[in-house]
Amino acid sequence: MMSIITFFARRWIAGLTLAHALDVVEQLNRRGFFTTLDHLGEDVTNKEEADTSTDQYIAILHALKERNLDRNVSIKLTQLGLAIDPELCAKNLRRIVSAAVEVGGFVRVDIEGSQWTTKTFDVVKMVKTNVAPVGAAVQAMLMRSPDDVANLIDRDIPIRLCKGAYKESSTIAHQKHADIVKHYIALMKRMLTSGIYHGIATHDEEIIGAAKRFAEENHIARDAFEFQMLMGMRRKLQKNLIDDGWRLRIYVPFGKRWLPYMLRRLHEKRENMWFFISHLFKG
Ligand code: FAD
Repeated sequence: MMSIITFFARRWIAGLTLAHALDVVEQLNRRGFFTTLDHLGEDVTNKEEADTSTDQYIAILHALKERNLDRNVSIKLTQLGLAIDPELCAKNLRRIVSAAVEVGGFVRVDIEGSQWTTKTFDVVKMVKTNVAPVGAAVQAMLMRSPDDVANLIDRDIPIRLCKGAYKESSTIAHQKHADIVKHYIALMKRMLTSGIYHGIATHDEEIIGAAKRFAEENHIARDAFEFQMLMGMRRKLQKNLIDDGWRLRIYVPFGKRWLPYMLRRLHEKRENMWFFISHLFKG
């Protein structure tokens, strides 16, 4: 089992150190991809660890600037102390967002399991001001998401729309693939007509096709939004998108705490397991 995971990890994780991750980002940026760097970690349980994660993210933003790379990072708020104290978490996020302002970067807040959804949006709203380069992520599978999308758009907060990677109960989340796709497409349309620069994060060709068609039919410029995909997934599709003139950001995770990230993707949903396996063959 361990060797299978290590095999997956090499393809889907940019390395254990920042130096490795910067090399991967550089290669991707050179080939025309935008990137977002995720320093793997979550569920921090003490203030010192939350402060350390914060300092590391600030150092990452400065390192990206020094190498003249895309200064975009993705962060889980449980890494910044959300489980300890939302005020502490907001303070940490504010420090990272200030560093992003300094280097001309952007901070994307990942969305975690549903026990964190409201608290995550609350912290993002606390930190967002007119000039704060910070965005949120929304899971199309959650039934609450149409309200969340409307609320975030009202506050001018850029959104990354994804299906949702966490197992959630049928009382709060759509379970069927077709339902999730239907709701995803409805939210995508709402977002693309908002005038805010959002991210459409999926490897699902049905949704990607629907987004392209919707943008073309509604004269939404190709640089008015971006697609987003995970490193190592559907690499041919990734290349085709940028060759056709669409914007694509690659989510690049790195760091020593890669195991939870891999296990989540392999175990949380059966279809993700199939998704991973099928990609070994699709390339
Ligand atoms: P899939 O749903 O795996 O679909 C891919 C293909 O498989 C499609 O062709 C589809 O038709 C087919 N397929 C899949 N399942 C079925 C099925 N049951 N029946 C028939 N066909 C099927 N998640 C979070 O929770 N929080 C985040 O912050 C977050 N950030 C992300 C950032 C990026 C850049 C990306 C790309 C994903 C992120 N995710 C996040 C993960 C996301 O929520 C999904 O779990 C993951 O992307 C898989 O969904 P998909 O739409 O990419 O592809």
